[in-house]
Amino acid sequence: MKVTIVGGGFGGVKTALELAKNKYTEITLISDKPDFQYYPALYGTATGHSKRQAWVALGEIFGNAKNVTVIIDTVLSIDPSSKQLKAASGNTYDYDHCVLALGAVTTYFGIEGLDTYAHGIKSAEEINRLKHHLYEQMGERHIIDKNYVIVGGGPTGVELAATLGTYLERLRVYYKLPAHKIHITLVEASPRVLVRMHEKTSRNVEKRLKKIGVKVETGKVVQSANADTLMVSGRPIKSQTVIWTSGVANNPFFKNNAEHFELSKNGKVVVNEYMQAGKDLYVIGDNAFTQYSGLAQVALHDAHFIAHNLEQQRLRKPLKKYKAVMPPVVVPVGENWAVFEWRKLRIKGWPASLLRRAADVMGYRDILPLGYALNIWQTQEIVQNDYFTPSAPPAEK
Ligand SMILES: Cc1cc2nc3c(=O)[nH]c(=O)nc-3n(C[C@H](O)[C@H](O)[C@H](O)COP(=O)(O)OP(=O)(O)OC[C@H]3O[C@@H](n4cnc5c(N)ncnc54)[C@H](O)[C@@H]3O)c2cc1C
Repeated sequence: MKVTIVGGGFGGVKTALELAKNKYTEITLISDKPDFQYYPALYGTATGHSKRQAWVALGEIFGNAKNVTVIIDTVLSIDPSSKQLKAASGNTYDYDHCVLALGAVTTYFGIEGLDTYAHGIKSAEEINRLKHHLYEQMGERHIIDKNYVIVGGGPTGVELAATLGTYLERLRVYYKLPAHKIHITLVEASPRVLVRMHEKTSRNVEKRLKKIGVKVETGKVVQSANADTLMVSGRPIKSQTVIWTSGVANNPFFKNNAEHFELSKNGKVVVNEYMQAGKDLYVIGDNAFTQYSGLAQVALHDAHFIAHNLEQQRLRKPLKKYKAVMPPVVVPVGENWAVFEWRKLRIKGWPASLLRRAADVMGYRDILPLGYALNIWQTQEIVQNDYFTPSAPPAEK
């Protein structure tokens, strides 16, 4: 049986690892990047901590898997009738079964100036660009911005807002800039931060953010951005450093191949009870229109489900039906403090931050052998060498 998986993220890598346990399955994993990206650690990397915690080479993950071939290529289209994928390299790839796990992309909702002036933290390039901007501002021009603005009060925005101040203060001291209060503002359009969590959790997080000096502006809408001003609900905020963590959209692959997929209102792919979008065609993780889609744990759950059913199919045994499972959510808010939620259980403070550390071990362990996972997990505490001086200027946007 030949399974072609597209996407080297949580869903794609886990599906390949599960299928690789059976030597009769031939697996091809196609991804546009040579690394697996551990998104939950990106805010740490953006604020000076080890890059190793966020990127793991696919070659290292599949080094010992004899029945997995990793190909670096960008898949552009699919033809389900001939069971073929076409890629940017000009190559085509056949499949008996195809699993699509392409993840989400950032969207600026067409807001004027954001794509030019805002920074992102979703990829190595974006993080490098942000760090270079801070270096250029503090290290070369010797200035501190009037405001550092983070847009988006979801988990990433909250995590980043809570750690950015410490990072900037370290940079200030290193570059010998005069003592200066650093203003960090978190802007969120909804009436509260962490809108997918319980109201009490949102309140606790807002209190915690205020305590560590972050100004929280909820119910405020970003309207436009230029080089030194962000317009928010009719009011200008002076800032040359806007970090956009809001807004994700489904991978454009599906819109570009819309004749083969039924898309929901939010652009995700409608799948049946076996996560199929067509014959022998499966869509999982962030791409699938399922109840809790948008979380790493859901992509891992989907991967287990698909791998199990593909094996059942190979053995001509009955298939399982998909059941969405609510995963626990834990969001760190600065050092040794987090919020945790799972069903009716809510925990805050340092016990929740321990749970986050445990969740990270399990997250790495899902993808890597235990020793390696522990090794990477430990690097979360390590400040990287280019903390103060990003090694290379980033490419133009
Ligand atoms: C900054 C950030 C922090 C997050 N923190 C958390 C958290 O703490 N907890 C949590 O549960 N979730 C978190 N998430 C969400 C979580 O990372 C996603 O839900 C998860 O990655 C989804 O897995 P996936 O396999 O669907 O997609 P991804 O993991 O995004 O993988 C998609 C893969 O497909 C590749 N790809 C894309 N297009 C193509 C193409 N055309 N051809 C070939 N390859 C392609 C990409 O390079 C990537 O390797 C976070 C997300 C972000 C952005």
